[in-house]
Amino acid sequence: MNSPTHSLLALAVLSKRGETKRNWAVFIGSLLPDLAIYLWFPYQALIKGESGKRIWDELYFEPPMQNLIALFNSIPIYAALAIIGYVARTKLWGKCLLFFALAALIHMATDLPVHGHDAYRHFWPISEWRFYSPISYWETDHHAGWVSLVEAVIALGSIAILWRRFPKRWVRIVLGLLALLYVAMQVMMRLASFGFGG
Ligand SMILES: [Zn+2]
Repeated sequence: MNSPTHSLLALAVLSKRGETKRNWAVFIGSLLPDLAIYLWFPYQALIKGESGKRIWDELYFEPPMQNLIALFNSIPIYAALAIIGYVARTKLWGKCLLFFALAALIHMATDLPVHGHDAYRHFWPISEWRFYSPISYWETDHHAGWVSLVEAVIALGSIAILWRRFPKRWVRIVLGLLALLYVAMQVMMRLASFGFGG
């Protein structure tokens, strides 16, 4: 799914008012799996001068990038970190590690069902297996119309939970803007008639 959805869902499930360090651990864990892509794209485009088309159509599917993605999206690695964190949960670092890893696992759980031809090796390094889902969060010929609607509902539900949990003004401004963004994206998608057909 889209990165903000991962963060909103993980924070709705795992954050707690007044526990700043735990909440940051959740936030970082929810985004880290996508970080490889965010760092890699500007590196290829700006430093190596590759075109956007070549980056997404070719380089993305070649071993260096695929290995980086596998590393950052490995369920066995995050599960191992969660176990270590759980064992050490009475210490601050253990607790933060636990919540970081759980947030990343929520990310995996919401990516695995909605990646079609861009499926990841989520069980690396134990297995090279990829689950090529028949539905996708962005490929319109893989029912993205419906999947993105479900994604928007998850995001808006998470926003409602976080809105009640965190009364701080800056948090609510960010949440309000995100809510507008999700609604606007849905409206634009429907108007562009990507539609429910796929
Ligand atoms: Zn992801």
